[in-house]
Amino acid sequence: MTNSILLGAIADDLTGATDLALMLARNGMRTVQVVGVPEEDADFGDAEAVVVALKSRTIGADDAVAMSLASAMTLRQAGAEQFLFKYCSTFDSTATGNIGPVAEALMDFLEVPIAIACPAFPAAGRSIYQGHLFVGSALLSDSPMRDHPLTPMRDANLVRVLQAQSTAKVGLIPLDIISAGPEAIRAVLIKAKQAGFGLMIADAVRDADLRVLGEALSGARLITGGSGVAMGLPDNFRRQGRIGTEPVPARMIAPKGKSVILSGSCSTATRGQVQAAIDAGRPAFRIVPADVVAGSQTVADIANWVLEHSGKEPALVYSSDDPDAVLAVQKKLGREEAGLLVEQLMANLAVILRDNGFSRFVVAGGETSGAVVGALGVHTLQIGPEIAPGVPWTRSIAGPDLALALKSGNFGAPDFFLKAWDLLDD
Ligand code: ADP
Repeated sequence: MTNSILLGAIADDLTGATDLALMLARNGMRTVQVVGVPEEDADFGDAEAVVVALKSRTIGADDAVAMSLASAMTLRQAGAEQFLFKYCSTFDSTATGNIGPVAEALMDFLEVPIAIACPAFPAAGRSIYQGHLFVGSALLSDSPMRDHPLTPMRDANLVRVLQAQSTAKVGLIPLDIISAGPEAIRAVLIKAKQAGFGLMIADAVRDADLRVLGEALSGARLITGGSGVAMGLPDNFRRQGRIGTEPVPARMIAPKGKSVILSGSCSTATRGQVQAAIDAGRPAFRIVPADVVAGSQTVADIANWVLEHSGKEPALVYSSDDPDAVLAVQKKLGREEAGLLVEQLMANLAVILRDNGFSRFVVAGGETSGAVVGALGVHTLQIGPEIAPGVPWTRSIAGPDLALALKSGNFGAPDFFLKAWDLLDD
C-alpha cells in the first residue's frame, strides 16, 4: 500500500462528508471520499485527504463509536497525521450522543487530552457566539431544527448540549480570544487543559475566524466540527510545503457511457429541479409507489423505458412528490417501508443501467444516494468540480468506473439537472 495521507476525516453522514471533501478540495488538497468504514488495506491513490462517510448520526452511541474508531485506525495506518471528526453545522445530536461519545473515543484512541468543537459555517448562516449557535438570525433552539424528527435541537447553548453527552469537562473559547489570533488560542487551550477541560466549544462568526482557528490548530492531532472548520487546515500543510497549490479542477473527464438522473428526494429544491427538467422537455418517468407495490411498475419496465428514452439528453426517473402525497403513501405503507421501497427500486435500477452502459449518474437525495452508491459497488470517490455549493462531481476509484453527482435534497439551483452535465468531458 502506498498511501500517505495527511488529513483523515470521519463524517457522520454521506452528504455531510461530500460537503467536507469539497471544502478540502477547494482549498487545494487532493481529496477522496470513502463510503462506509474503509477496508484495512484500502488504496487511497495519491490522496492528501481522505473523508470517510459514515451513517452514524442517529444510530446507537456504541455503534457510532465502533465505526468511527475502525475508520480512524485505517486512516492512521494510511499515514494521517491530523484527524477531523465532522458533524452537522446545526450540531445534530440527541441528549446522549453521538457527538460527545465519538469525540471522546477518538481523543482516547489518538491520546489527545483536549480538542475543540466548532460546527460554525458562516457561509450557510451557522455562527457561534458566547457558545450559542445561531441559524441565520435565530438561535438554534428557535430555528426549524427545534422540530427535527430525529434530532430536535431545543438548546442553543452548545457548551451545555455537549456537556450533557460527554464525560470530559466542556469549556468555551470566546470570540475575543479567536479574534486575538492563533497564539492567543493556543495559550487558552494549554490553560484549559491544565484546568481539566477536555472539549472546548469555539466561537466563530465569520470565515476569517475559522481560518484563524485553523491556523491555531496546525499540528493538532484531533479537531471536531463542521465543514467550516476545515477551511483553514489545508493552508497549514501548504505553509509546510507539503501540498501544492492546485485549484480544484473546473471540469472532469468522465468515463464514456450514457447518462441518467435518479431523483428520490422529495425536498423543495429537488422538486423544483424535477419540474425544471420536465419543463425543458427532458424525458421523465414518474415512479408511483402504490404501482410498485401493486406490481404494475417494475424495475425491469423502468429500465427498459430509460434505455428507450436515453438519447443525447439524459432521462430522468423520479419519485419526488409533494409532502401531502408522500404522507399519504407513508400512511398506507409505513414511513420506513415507503422509503426503503423507493430506495431499493432506485438502487436496483442503477445496477441494471450500469450493466447496460450507463456510466454517468446524477442522484438526488441523501438516503437515495447512499442506497444507489452501495448497490453500484462504489466505495471510494475522487472529488471533482463543484456543480453547486456543497455538490461536486465525483469519479469512482477502483470498482466500476463511474461519474457520480450525489445531491443532498435541498442543494442546487432549479437548473441543476440540466446544467450539471456541462462540467463533464469525454
Ligand atoms: P433528501 O436528501 O431530500 O432528504 P432522501 O433521499 O435522503 O432525500 O430521502 C427521501 C426519502 O423519501 C427516501 O427514503 C425515499 O426513498 C423516500 N421517498 C421518495 N419518494 C417517495 C414517495 N413518492 N413517497 C414516499 N417516500 C418517498
